[in-house]
Order: sequence, then structure tokens, then C-alpha cells
Amino acid sequence: MHTRKPVLRVRAFNPEFLRVLCASAAKIYMKSNYDILIVGGGMVGSLLACALGGAEFKVAVLEHQPPAAPPEGGFDQRVSAITLASVAIFQAVGAWAAMQARAAPVREMRIVDATGTGSIHFDAAEIGEPCLAYIVENRVIQTALVERLHRFTNIHWVCPAEITDFDIKHDGSTVTVTDGRALGARLIVGADGADSATRRAAGLDTQRLRLDQKGIVATVRTERPHAENARQRFLPTGPLAFLPLAEPHTCSIVWSADNALADELLALDDAAFTVRLQKTFGDDLGKIESLGPRAAFPLALSHARHYTADGLALIGDAAHTVHPLAGQGVNLGFLDAAALAEVLLDARAKQRDIGAHAVLRRYERWRKADNLSMVAVTGGFKYLFGNDLPLVRDLRNLGLDLTDAATPIKNRIIRRAAGLEGDLPRLARRTA
Ligand SMILES: Cc1cc2nc3c(=O)[nH]c(=O)nc-3n(C[C@H](O)[C@H](O)[C@H](O)COP(=O)(O)OP(=O)(O)OC[C@H]3O[C@@H](n4cnc5c(N)ncnc54)[C@H](O)[C@@H]3O)c2cc1C
Repeated sequence: MHTRKPVLRVRAFNPEFLRVLCASAAKIYMKSNYDILIVGGGMVGSLLACALGGAEFKVAVLEHQPPAAPPEGGFDQRVSAITLASVAIFQAVGAWAAMQARAAPVREMRIVDATGTGSIHFDAAEIGEPCLAYIVENRVIQTALVERLHRFTNIHWVCPAEITDFDIKHDGSTVTVTDGRALGARLIVGADGADSATRRAAGLDTQRLRLDQKGIVATVRTERPHAENARQRFLPTGPLAFLPLAEPHTCSIVWSADNALADELLALDDAAFTVRLQKTFGDDLGKIESLGPRAAFPLALSHARHYTADGLALIGDAAHTVHPLAGQGVNLGFLDAAALAEVLLDARAKQRDIGAHAVLRRYERWRKADNLSMVAVTGGFKYLFGNDLPLVRDLRNLGLDLTDAATPIKNRIIRRAAGLEGDLPRLARRTA
């Protein structure tokens, strides 16, 4: 029988074809495979990495920029009120000791309606706790978490990492970074903040409400000591908070103001700004002195319709943002990270696929109601206090006073805000 010999066709040499071929081969060769890729090593992404430290997962954290060290001999402008649940999580992952020296306890909190007569006062003693929360600089939190995650051999910190391409698939995804490296994983976690590229790449829709406000932050020195008290004045243009720092005469301020006022305040020089601040806040802490530059952040309420898809989960600001008036934003993100870590560890123990949507949905169901209610509550507060109709003002004053007088209701509010109640992940439950 006659058999035809195969004919070897030699193509004309095409340098472009060769370049593409070599690049693809190099990508395949250079592709590193992980179980989990966390996009964003901010406070929330780094915490998730620590919570997965030592587990049977190979994890990479991709972060744009190395965390900046906290300033020596001063305080950074950006701080967060940290709930007792978040402190429990930091303790459980071994990062609290590195933050504690710069964490200022809040023993009491007073909220005043600046245009009315209503006020409410919370005291840690009423719930039998030494404090209600801690004020900690964001840089202190992030550096402590990043230092901690470096101790785990199963966590790889990839920084600086500029992502050029996401290829999110139901059976395994790939992320390409600027140096051409490709990283593959069964699960991609978007912890890349409010403007999440991961969320966009996955096509997850988000509902967003612009508040037309900015949050101005600065550090100030006060004549009288803060006595570990947090003070917040609700003005029609937004709340002004004085948060105690780990130095008795120093406070961090968060002044949320409608855009027009915020821009006006930002344009003032230090002396004129301090005069406005003093006039608005009053005399409670004596003379106020500015200790450095101001920074401003646009405020918005947002909530992703879904936090998960096959091979994908969103945590922290990538999934939701709330108004800073309740000091809850990053704390919700820490609970997301702790809940997701628990779901993933449970799935691995039962030999289930960590990228399966059915597994990830448990995380989404767990966290969504809690997060959504905080979006609604902070939004409601903003509109309630931003409204100066006499009837609304009288009702909210009455509401504050009644709540202040009703001890059981007030204690429930404090316990909930401090993170002592609710469906908490294992890492957030206090052992002692
Ligand atoms: C004025 C103000 C005051 C606040 N006060 C409080 C408070 O008292 N208490 C509280 O709980 N919350 C507070 N918040 C909210 C809190 O700051 C946020 O909820 C928190 O920063 C969200 O953390 P995150 O890690 O989810 O996101 P982010 O802090 O936005 O971090 C995202 C990280 O991802 C990185 N990243 C982004 N894109 C990429 C990419 N493509 N590739 C690699 N890396 C990427 C970024 O560099 C960053 O490090 C406040 C917010 C504001 C604006």
C-alpha cells in the first residue's frame, strides 16, 4: 500500500510571530500557581493574608505600593476607630502587639446635635469594658499586618505589583503584572479598595450613592487633655469628630463637610482653618492648634450587588463603603476577611473546592446583611442630621435624648458598635 510521506512546510521566517511565541512560552514558563491571589495589600487584604498564614494554602498578595512607615515623633493624619472585635482578630493573628503602643483607648464617646439640644453619651463602664474602641493610625495597622504576613512561608508578598491583565475564569484565573509575570490561582480575592479593578474585571455591578461630601482629616493639639473621650458634633453640613490619640493633648479630627464647605476649608491657611475649627467645635478642649497638613477624601456609600462569583470574592471597600461618621468602614472589612478565611479553611477541611461559587456564597450570605445595614444606617444619619427642618430637628433631638435615657437600648447599641454582638467569625470571638 502506498503511504504518503508527511510534508514538512517551512514557513517564511516571521519575527513578529516568533516574538509572540517566545512571549507566550515565557509566560507559561514563568507562571506561578497559587491557591489564592489577594489583589490589594491594604489593611483588609493584609489581614486576610495573616488569617490564612500557616494554612495549607499557597497565597500571594499583590500590592501596588509598599506601606509607608508611621511617622516618628508625630501622628499620621489617617486614623481608624477600631472595634473590640477587630482587636480580637488582630490578637488572634498575632499582629496586635505591634500596634498596641500607638493605639489610644476610647473610654467615653459623646455625640451632640450642634443645632439642637439633643445629645447621647456612651461610657465603656456601662457595658463592663475598659474601653469602647481604639484609635489607631492606618499606617500602624497596615505595617503591623504586613510585617506579620512576612513571617508565614505560605504567603508571598508581591510588591510593587502593577496589574496589566485579569483573566478571571470559573475553573482558574490568571493575573498578569507589568514585568510580564503571570500568576494563576483557583481563587482571586479583590481587596483593592473602593475603585476595585478586580470587581470591574469580574463584571460585578455596584450600587453607588455620591454624598457630595469630603472627609477632611488633620492632627491637632488641644489645650485640655482629651481624657480618652471621643467627641462628635453633628452639623447640618456633616459631622465633626475629635478622636483621642495616644498622647493626652493630641486628637485626630475627621470633618465631613458638603463639597462647597470642604473646598473652602481646604483653601484656608493653617491659622484661618484653626479659627474655623475652634468656632465650630467650641471650647470643650480649650485652645486648638493645628499640627500639620490636612488631607481630604471624597465620601460615598456603595455596595456591590454580589460579593462572589466562581473563583472570585470581594472584601472590604471593594465590596462596600460607608460614611465614616460611625467609624465602622474598615471594621466591616476586617470581619469580611475573618469570615472569608473561616469559610475557606472549613471548605479545605471538607475537601471542597475553594473557588466553587456554592462555597463562596456562604461568605456572601454571612456578611451581606451586616454590611448593607451599616450602609443604610450611616446614610440615614447623614440625611437625618443634614436636614434642618424644625420638625426633623426636634424629632432627632428627642430620639437622641430618649435613647440616652433608655439604658438597655443604649447598651445594645454600644455592644453592637463595639463588635461584641452579632454573628461573629471565630477569629473575632474573644476567648477571655
Ligand atoms: C476620612 C475617613 C475616615 C475613616 N475613618 C474610619 C474609622 O474611624 N473606622 C473605620 O472602620 N473606617 C474608617 N474609614 C474607612 C476606611 O478607611 C476604609 O474602609 C478602609 O481603608 C478600607 O480598607 P481596604 O483595605 O478595603 O481598602 P484600601 O484602604 O483602599 O486599600 C486597598 C489597597 O489595594 C491596593 N490596590 C488597589 N488597586 C490595586 C491593584 N490593581 N493592584 C494592586 N494593589 C492595588 C492599594 O494600593 C491599597 O493598598 C474612614 C474613611 C475615610 C475616608
